[in-house]
Amino acid sequence: MQRFETGREAALKLRPDEPVYCFRPSVLTRDVRTFVDAFPGKVAYAVKTNGEPFVLKTVSEAGVGCFDVASRREFEAVRAVAPGAEQLYMHPVKALSAIRLALETHGIRTLALDHPDEFEKIRLVVQALDLDPGDISLFVRLATKGHAAYELSKKFGAAPGEAVELLQRAERHGFRPGICFHVGSQVEDIATYDTALALAAQVRRQAGVKLVGLDIGGGFPAPYGRDPRAPERPVPDPARLVRDIGADVARHGFDDIELVAEPGRVMVARSLSVIVRVLLRDGKRIHINDGIWGSLSDSWTGKITLPARLIPDPARRRRPGDASRLDDFRICGVTCDSVDILSRPFWLPSTVDTGDFIEIGHIGAYSLSLRTTFNGFHPDTFVEVDHAFEDDRDGLEGFATVETWGEPETEAVAGEVEAATPSPGTEPV
Ligand SMILES: *Cc1c(COP(=O)(O)O)cnc(C)c1O
Repeated sequence: MQRFETGREAALKLRPDEPVYCFRPSVLTRDVRTFVDAFPGKVAYAVKTNGEPFVLKTVSEAGVGCFDVASRREFEAVRAVAPGAEQLYMHPVKALSAIRLALETHGIRTLALDHPDEFEKIRLVVQALDLDPGDISLFVRLATKGHAAYELSKKFGAAPGEAVELLQRAERHGFRPGICFHVGSQVEDIATYDTALALAAQVRRQAGVKLVGLDIGGGFPAPYGRDPRAPERPVPDPARLVRDIGADVARHGFDDIELVAEPGRVMVARSLSVIVRVLLRDGKRIHINDGIWGSLSDSWTGKITLPARLIPDPARRRRPGDASRLDDFRICGVTCDSVDILSRPFWLPSTVDTGDFIEIGHIGAYSLSLRTTFNGFHPDTFVEVDHAFEDDRDGLEGFATVETWGEPETEAVAGEVEAATPSPGTEPV
């Protein structure tokens, strides 16, 4: 990969007409270490968040030896970069042939389930392969409730009574029973974990089995952009968040068994940005060369405001208007599909125009894996960048809308738009 100090430098040197991803290995390493150092248990990176080989390799080299996987391709992707790593097969509903592949070819010994028929499938394959159930951990997934950008319990998870029955059945057949849950993604209300832990404790008491572990899933929030007019609401600092959850775990009596987390977003979100180009400005609408069928579907479904930095095209000499004023622009994607319009605006200097570049930050999670070739568009150019997205303060324009990691108690700051505007003199002539 070509290497640059900042996304701005890459945009101005390459002048790309197609989206360019800026990968920041040092940021990824730092965010992985922050989580791993704070979490009092085993950390399994959720591969579906971003399964690019260079991401898996960096996560592995940063000290993660365990991966949450869901399919043959994910087993193989992990194996290719970290052959000795442990894999947890946490998809609750699996094909018989996939269960067999996991157990026989990939040596996977931890699986999730939420239904008696799934238990039967696993039991059959274990019997057919003549494996000892005592070597296999079965994590019963609980349905949970809470507030997340994505609410996932509509699809997976057993009700408490069913979970009790499954745990007892697993133990009766000689398997090692565990409990898992996954509260959703971008969980902003931390009480969600406490509620899920209380439920898990109740199920544990009723089941009366000897548990081998508790897996609290993923969902830990990453910082994104924010409406500069709204009060500042820092995203909980991951180290502090993980310590708080650790305290909740102990309070609910789970500090006597192995604890597992499956973070995705919180570790990779900040490690990638994408440089896009303004194809057309039409009043308060901006057409860019990426969109929901490209890198930006996560922000669309999750209604996430992305931090966006304007990189004005130096070739445009005349630029009427006030570069110090931030406006909310509606962002239209590149495909001909009329749903390809972002659900949240970009906050940009009012002078943004056709031909300008925009660096969209914090798109490391659920972007690359979800992009399509719809309408012939498929961003696929990568460069490496040294500095964090928010550390490029050179001629900063319209990006001060990024959230910070911080304490939730921080007071709201008045006059956000004022504070968010770039200093005079940085605007292009
Ligand atoms: C998607 C997923 C994760 C990762 O979720 P994040 O919100 O990215 O942390 C973890 N566990 C399971 C079971 C998942 O499906």
